[in-house]
Amino acid sequence: MKQEALHCSFSLESLFNDILKSADPLVSKIFNNALDGKELSEKDALELFKTSKVELLMLGLVADEIRRRTVGETVTFVINRNINFTNICSNRCKFCAFRRNQNDPDAYILSIEEIVRRSGEAWRNGATEVCIQGGLNPNIEGYFYPKICEAIKKKTPHIHIHAFSPMEIVFGARKSQLNIREFLKMLKEAGLDSLPGTAAEILDDNLRRTICPEKIDVKTWIDVIKTAHNLGIPTTSTMMYGHVDGPQQWANHIRTIRDIQKETNGFTEFIPLSFVHPNTELYRSGGARPGATGTEDVKVHAISRLMLNKHIKNIQVSWVKLGSKMTEICLLAGANDLGGTLMEENISKTAGATTGQRMERLEMEKMIRKIGRVPAQRDTTYNILNFQKT
Ligand code: SF4
Repeated sequence: MKQEALHCSFSLESLFNDILKSADPLVSKIFNNALDGKELSEKDALELFKTSKVELLMLGLVADEIRRRTVGETVTFVINRNINFTNICSNRCKFCAFRRNQNDPDAYILSIEEIVRRSGEAWRNGATEVCIQGGLNPNIEGYFYPKICEAIKKKTPHIHIHAFSPMEIVFGARKSQLNIREFLKMLKEAGLDSLPGTAAEILDDNLRRTICPEKIDVKTWIDVIKTAHNLGIPTTSTMMYGHVDGPQQWANHIRTIRDIQKETNGFTEFIPLSFVHPNTELYRSGGARPGATGTEDVKVHAISRLMLNKHIKNIQVSWVKLGSKMTEICLLAGANDLGGTLMEENISKTAGATTGQRMERLEMEKMIRKIGRVPAQRDTTYNILNFQKT
């Protein structure tokens, strides 16, 4: 009898009923709106960023359910190679440990021949994409950028060139004495297929003045992105979080990305990038905290799913920034893409990441299966190339 009574009062049903009863009514209403497919406001996102305890667990569950309804159980990834063609940079972003001055002993610039060689090697090893980004090297001419694209396509015509951040586009355009549109058009004609939506960092000019004062402002970033989309060049979208920022800027950033997408439909995915702090000036000088907490990582991915779902259905987890353990958790809280195998990641490594410079395809598939989902290789624009049900 006693056992039966215990069983009744601690049943799963009663547990969930208790949880539902104890949840904050405002937060419950936001979850219900999200599950009904209603658009969440920036204010709703701010409420969700405040969640803790049971509401935080519910946030993960709701984001996971919305992910399931939208993209199913597939977790996608792309086989790609990173090529960071120079680390010499005239900017001094305080969160960046990758940049070097020209005379530093480990400063480098790759020749176009070497970039072409690495691209061909990547293609022969199964990569469908090269992701090419570099510092703002004062020694290169603006036409270096289209020359890279032309030379790669000449040797490896079918590889997708995903290259040059909006900051590099502004730099290259200035150097070529062209406007943004003309420069992007020239790159497209030379073989550029898509742009990384990096250099967004956090879309707040006040914070940008603190963490990257020489970088393009918010308006210019949006202008480059919209111009690319209008020219038929898709881009990713990103947000670097966990430094001097907080929920207000995150909610505003995600809403800004959503507004752009409503207008252009040119984003392929949203990629939250957790700040890697150890070797950065920003952290070492006491200007930033040591990255986001685990619960902030979960919240950013889950709330991105809730805010963006209707407009950007792919939420990517950066295994480079989070490591495989947090990556698994974020895949269970709204994310559906694992990004690229990368082959040679440098930016996070120099900032102090210990997560590795590459992840093999088999490792990715194993991680995806371990959480009960189905791995699928995709191309850069999310066409499925290789789907493995079992
Ligand atoms: S983030 Fe880019 S622009 Fe800024 S210092 Fe580093 S390499 Fe240069």
